[in-house]
Amino acid sequence: MARAQLLPIRIIGDKVLKTVAEPISDISDELKAFIKDLTFTMYKRDGVGLAAPQVGRSVRIFVMDPFWSREDIKKEPIVMINPEIIEKSGEQICEEGCLSVPDVYERVLRYDNIKVRFRNVEGEMMEMEADEYVSDVIQHENDHLNGVLFVDNINKLKLLPLMPRLKKLKATTDENEENIRIL
Ligand code: ZN
Repeated sequence: MARAQLLPIRIIGDKVLKTVAEPISDISDELKAFIKDLTFTMYKRDGVGLAAPQVGRSVRIFVMDPFWSREDIKKEPIVMINPEIIEKSGEQICEEGCLSVPDVYERVLRYDNIKVRFRNVEGEMMEMEADEYVSDVIQHENDHLNGVLFVDNINKLKLLPLMPRLKKLKATTDENEENIRIL
């Protein structure tokens, strides 16, 4: 199999980030290669999660490695294909950022406890329970598959001071012919 490729990250203002992604029916070799590229790109860009729409492919897949940091040798990526949050309860306030919304960090209200059902790369049906931070990462990534960005979850009043910056980012994408920018 070819070496993993670094994929360009789409940023806010790009239509693909507002699009509801398509479910996966067949885990082909091509798709597996894409998942490798997605994972490679997440680590290269210092992300703890990356969803397929963030690299311009509107399919229901994300990868995450919540406890990874650049200093870590150990990488434990979890790939979720067609994830579905089937149980949710409690509340937590999370400080979030996003590779597709560079330099913006905001507090978001999330469920605390969740149960998620998904397929792994082998196509096996899996279930995972999560709370606190891991649950936050899953909810953030799952939102990407539904065309939702974390800034959409923020109270509109809180978003006002961020607007000039977000507008600027949108202008940057509009000017860019390819509508992409690598962070
Ligand atoms: Zn994100």
